[in-house]
Amino acid sequence: MKQDSIRPLLDQICTHMGNEQDRGAVASYIPELACIDPAHFAMSVCLPDGTQISVGDAKIEFSIQSVSKVFTLAIALGRHGDHFWTRVGREPSTHVFNSVQELEARDGIPPNPFVNAGAIATTDCLLVGATPKETLAEIVQFMRLAASDDAIFIDPDVASSEKETGHRNWALAHFLRSCGNLRHECELTLGTYFHHCALAMTAEQLARAGRFLAGIHPAGNLIAPGHIRSINALMMTCGHYNGSGEFAYRVGIPAKSGVGGGILAVLPNRASIAVWSPGLDRYGNSLLGTQALEILSQELCLSMFSVA
Ligand code: GLN
Repeated sequence: MKQDSIRPLLDQICTHMGNEQDRGAVASYIPELACIDPAHFAMSVCLPDGTQISVGDAKIEFSIQSVSKVFTLAIALGRHGDHFWTRVGREPSTHVFNSVQELEARDGIPPNPFVNAGAIATTDCLLVGATPKETLAEIVQFMRLAASDDAIFIDPDVASSEKETGHRNWALAHFLRSCGNLRHECELTLGTYFHHCALAMTAEQLARAGRFLAGIHPAGNLIAPGHIRSINALMMTCGHYNGSGEFAYRVGIPAKSGVGGGILAVLPNRASIAVWSPGLDRYGNSLLGTQALEILSQELCLSMFSVA
C-alpha cells in the first residue's frame, strides 16, 4: 500500500460517505449509543513504516463494543493457549450475534469467540486467578500498549447502561453457567464483559491498536505469531457475525465490527485500518463503514481473494 495513493483515496471516500443519505440506524438499546449523531464518519490507516493517515472524525471517541472481543481473545489465547478452544468453537454462525437458540443447540459451547456467548466465555477465562478489577486493568493496559496511548479509558455510563439493559446477555451467561461453561458468578463475568465493551476509543487509536495483528507494531510482536494467525482467521470467518460471508465477499479483509459502528480491519504485514460510522445494517455492522472498506479494498486491490 503506497502512502501517496492512500491520502487522496481516503479523502474521496470521506466526501462520498458525507453525501450518503442512507446511513443505517444507530444502535438504540442504550441511551449513550442512541444519541450518537449518524453523520459521523472516520477512517484511519496505519502502515508498516509508522505513518498514519486519517480522515473525518478520527479524533472523536466512540464505544468500540464488540471490537474489544478481538483484544480479549488475544489475551485469553496468551493465557490459556490451545486449551481455550475447549470452551469456545471456531465456526461462523448463521444466527444473530446474541442468539440463545444456537447456544442451546451446541450444548453451551459458543460457536466462536466473537458472538456474545463466545465473548462472555472468553471474559470468564480471563477471570481465572484474577478479580474483575485486575482483569479490566489488564485489558486497558493491553489496549494502551497496543495503541501506544495511555489516554484510553472505559466509559462507566455505557458500562452501567449495558448492565441494566443486557437481559439477553444475562440469559446467555446463565445458560453457559448451567452447562458448566462459566466458572465465575454471572454477575462477575458479565460485569467485566460489559466494561470491556464500553471501551471508548477514537478511530486513530483503534487503527494503532490493531497494528499488532498486522505484525507492524513498533514494539514487535505483542502476542505469539501463531495466535495472530488464529485471530485473523476468526476475524475473516466470524468477525461480522451472520454477515461475515457477505463482508468477505465484498471486502475480503479480516475485520471485526462493533455495534457502536466501529470496524477494525487487518491486512497482515501491510496495514491496520479503523473505520467508524455509527449507523448499522441489519446484521448490526456499520453500514457505511463496510461500504468505505469495500471501496478501499476494490480501489487498492486489497481483498485476500483477488489476484493481481
Ligand atoms: N455490548 C454489546 C452486547 O453485548 C456488544 C454487541 C456488539 O457490539 N455486537 O450486546
